[in-house]
Amino acid sequence: MSALPSHLELVQGVVLPKPVGADPVLDFLNTRSDFAGRGPAVNDWLTSYEAFVIWNGYVGLLSDASVFRLIEQASVKPTDAARRLDAVREFRADLYDVLTDEAAIGSFEAVARAVGRAGGRRRLNAVPAEGLGVGASWELPEDLGLPLDQLALLGAELLTGASRDHVRVCPGDNCGWLFLDPRGRRRWCSMSTCGNRAKVRAHAARTR
Ligand SMILES: [Zn+2]
Repeated sequence: MSALPSHLELVQGVVLPKPVGADPVLDFLNTRSDFAGRGPAVNDWLTSYEAFVIWNGYVGLLSDASVFRLIEQASVKPTDAARRLDAVREFRADLYDVLTDEAAIGSFEAVARAVGRAGGRRRLNAVPAEGLGVGASWELPEDLGLPLDQLALLGAELLTGASRDHVRVCPGDNCGWLFLDPRGRRRWCSMSTCGNRAKVRAHAARTR
């Protein structure tokens, strides 16, 4: 089998980009390449609803059992799954705009609506407490909407949290991937891809 580029990995039969964002929400935004406008991406690794679910399992947002059950649900309701995938791609484009474009008010409103919908589906569940009393955890119904709702809620946490100001865009050619850079030391999404390409280019310019 031919080797994949170092930033990609074969997961359950699906090619997915390796996480580089230091935040699952940013890695979700990095499931496409070449952020030039809202047209079709040159590479979109969310090739199907199933691939999206497998990606969620890969980065630890869904358990193996949930991945299995959601893929089963998707195979029973392919039209619904395709519609969900469209919503996922819309949300991905909107949240990317919100994080990178200060004029993206329309996108912001779309993100806020997605967060509101997800918040309305969330229930507080009782769980055993470590210390005193009853503990609690948020739970979403396990249906085809779960992975997007979960990402919307995490996206809201990112937007409102301390990490928001540490989001950076990779300056690599046609890259546009996002990552967290809390110490202000990171330039590239990945040294092995964009960092290396820049090094090679700089070297070529020096030896010309
Ligand atoms: Zn890059």
